[in-house]
Amino acid sequence: MSTQTDLDVLILGHGLAGGLLAWHLIQKGLRVTVIDDPQSLSASRVAAGLFNPVTGQRLVKFKHADRFLPVARECYHALEKRFGKTFFHDMGMVRLIRSNHDQLVWGKRKNDPEYDSYLGEYFDRNTSPYVHDPLGSFRQHRTGYVDTTVLLDTLSEFFRGNDSFIDARIDYKEISFEKGQVTALDIRAKQIIFCEGYRATGNPWFSWLPFKPAKGEILALQTDTELPEQIINAGKWLLPSTEGLFKTGATYQWHELDELPTKEAKQELLDFVHALLRHPGNIKIIHHLAGIRPCTKDTKPYIGMHPHHPELGFFNGFGSRGSLMIPYHAEQFAAHLCDKTAIDKETDIKRYWKEDA
Ligand SMILES: Cc1cc2nc3c(=O)[nH]c(=O)nc-3n(C[C@H](O)[C@H](O)[C@H](O)COP(=O)(O)OP(=O)(O)OC[C@H]3O[C@@H](n4cnc5c(N)ncnc54)[C@H](O)[C@@H]3O)c2cc1C
Repeated sequence: MSTQTDLDVLILGHGLAGGLLAWHLIQKGLRVTVIDDPQSLSASRVAAGLFNPVTGQRLVKFKHADRFLPVARECYHALEKRFGKTFFHDMGMVRLIRSNHDQLVWGKRKNDPEYDSYLGEYFDRNTSPYVHDPLGSFRQHRTGYVDTTVLLDTLSEFFRGNDSFIDARIDYKEISFEKGQVTALDIRAKQIIFCEGYRATGNPWFSWLPFKPAKGEILALQTDTELPEQIINAGKWLLPSTEGLFKTGATYQWHELDELPTKEAKQELLDFVHALLRHPGNIKIIHHLAGIRPCTKDTKPYIGMHPHHPELGFFNGFGSRGSLMIPYHAEQFAAHLCDKTAIDKETDIKRYWKEDA
């Protein structure tokens, strides 16, 4: 462990945000150590890691999709190549049409050139051998998923190998700072970047950032019948894997913010699967996980340095789009920390700072 060693950056939290930011900073030659609570399951490890740039009932393309998707692909592919692992999976998606409104929206988007590379062909009603499709469905392109567990295990193994990963839960009271130096667990660094996911709601230096955390649950299941080869999106989703394994999710809940799986969510997800699949077969639950999404008030990430304490930085608020957004923002924030490039106004935490608050 690198105690008493001066570092450039301490990263608190090893979800996708902390992991990818640390990776980019190390690539830029900085001395970095990541601290992560070994007892807690991050949202990143619960997530299915889906990326789907065109979402919602209005079938709207995520504003920055054209910019973020290529960066995400490049980042994940570079990591795959570097470590000889596979965690980025292109996989088509079939979205079920569930109402006349869906049908109208689909018709409109299909004629919009902005959506050309994202939306594919229409499938007639009742033609899928796998799922009930009474109103038909259509294909979505540029979708897939990141196996976040493989990615995070790969990164933590690399950080550990470089003596730059510490398993510990940090109490904010254990962090002290003065001009140009932060100390935590006897480690001194020039800066600390907080990447604690929804737990940042308890961060005393950034309590002015309004979060709207959302609990979510997913099930990993196995069946003995054949599954579709694409991701099925019907409000909730079904993500097929091999040998009858698949995942389904996710629920949304804003009140009971704990990481405990509930029987209500389990039933909701099982009901979804049984209503969706024509031949569900014998379904076995492999695991049931719950996590909290770090959603923000204006649905945009929170990135930047504390207006009065330049030793303290924040990289968070990726809501339910971590796999698509984090690679882009990690690259940008690493450039800001190393080369003083500007932070996008839209994501800069300063948008919420009030000097006299
Ligand atoms: C059910 C569910 C499904 C989801 N599905 C998707 C999806 O399909 N696609 C997608 O893009 N996104 C999805 N998300 C959202 C995605 O998980 C998040 O956007 C992303 O993972 C957030 O990453 P993060 O690193 O900011 O936070 P986290 O992954 O929560 O990581 C924070 C880390 O900080 C650590 N930490 C916090 N406080 C401390 C402390 N005091 N000391 C030490 N360590 C600390 C935690 O242990 C944790 O490891 C889903 C989320 C959930 C819950």
